[in-house]
Amino acid sequence: MEYLSEVKEQDEEIFSLMKNELDRQRSSIELIPSENFTTEAVMQAMGSILTNKYSEGYPGKRYYGGNEFIDEIEKLAISRAKALFNVEHVNVQPYSGSPANMEVYLSVCSPGDVIMGQSLTSGGHLTHGWNSSATGQLFKSVQYGVTDEGYINIDEVRKLAEQNKPKLIWIGSTAYVRKLPFKEFSEIAHSVGAYLAADISHISGLVIAGVHESPVPYVDIITTTTHKTLRGPRGAIIMVTKKGIEKDPDLPSKIDKSVFPGMQGGPHDHITAAIAIALKQASSPEFVSYAKQVVLNAKALATALMEQGINLVTKGTDNHMILADLSDISPGFGVFAQEALDKAGITLNKNTVPGERSSPFYPSGIRMGTPAITSRGMKESEMKEIASYITQILSSIKENKLPQSKEERLTYIKNFREGLNHNEQIKKVRENVINLTAKFPLYPEMKN
Ligand SMILES: *Cc1c(COP(=O)(O)O)cnc(C)c1O
Repeated sequence: MEYLSEVKEQDEEIFSLMKNELDRQRSSIELIPSENFTTEAVMQAMGSILTNKYSEGYPGKRYYGGNEFIDEIEKLAISRAKALFNVEHVNVQPYSGSPANMEVYLSVCSPGDVIMGQSLTSGGHLTHGWNSSATGQLFKSVQYGVTDEGYINIDEVRKLAEQNKPKLIWIGSTAYVRKLPFKEFSEIAHSVGAYLAADISHISGLVIAGVHESPVPYVDIITTTTHKTLRGPRGAIIMVTKKGIEKDPDLPSKIDKSVFPGMQGGPHDHITAAIAIALKQASSPEFVSYAKQVVLNAKALATALMEQGINLVTKGTDNHMILADLSDISPGFGVFAQEALDKAGITLNKNTVPGERSSPFYPSGIRMGTPAITSRGMKESEMKEIASYITQILSSIKENKLPQSKEERLTYIKNFREGLNHNEQIKKVRENVINLTAKFPLYPEMKN
């Protein structure tokens, strides 16, 4: 069938934008560590008649009729997640990672309770209690950080937990390149009587494949998105471990009630089916090889970047992600780096670094990850090539420095952006990127 033939027929505008987006994905090097290329089986389930159904409630306990097949789909998704992660209880209904985390809060905390999480500027997620998120406003949020070297500061975590006696502690990050210290957190949470929740959104695919330690023996609750290293549809899962049930036998029912009717209405049954498919795929030997290669690629990219003089936070990586600290070029340089690399078809995001000398809006680092390019089939030799593209671009813009005043900054960045159109190095790298990506076809059967 022709790609998007009905969309094309019904809505030319959306069709042409979607076509452009497909071309963009095909011809760029996707280094955003939270992104991936899901499979066509997953996309078929997402774009299916399952979206027509309402099924508020849980299997066997629905508020609407006609759910006999939906029940089986949800039960399969649950049993596959239980087996794959080795947990006692699973809820597959959260709409995405952020609502899943809010559902965890509301299952074990009341507004005003003390909670603890890793601060956004040191790699944590918004929903771990950052002040611009509802989670930082509804709860008394205590935030821990990282050392100047970029490692989670366990002594600080212990001290803050003892001083503040949080009800819930989060471990898990969006920008952290080393193994998560589950065991140490478990001891701290136990000593102050807190629930411990691991948010493994970024690393769940690595955990399944055994290339990152599993939090299961150490934590009470686990959340994960399903669309990052797990490579499924946009969605999320909440899990309760044996440890969690020993701590609080009501935890499974608290979580379920918090998801529905606490936070959500009808589950997205098309996504539930797609999650079940992704979990089946993730239990295959091919997926294990994929996840191993993700880490090998990240290490190869890190080594190549360091060899070319780029400063990396913690001088390497244990997972799928790399954080480059560009403050030695100039503080706030992440802004220029992201824009220039984007222009060459290398997509990543600017990021704060430990001891940030600029600001969260104008950070000094860039964050990169290998899940998406590994899904395309790229290996270590391509990582070397990509590292050299990155350093060529960075060196072509290295004279840029952020002005101090806000107004001057805006004008400076606007001029910088215009200047990129005449940057010969970017043009050259763009061609190399197009040639490289063409060797790793993406969704080749989507034609029109
Ligand atoms: C991506 C992410 C989330 C949020 O997921 P959304 O689906 O974007 O709401 C939560 N926690 C962590 C650690 C994440 O990386």
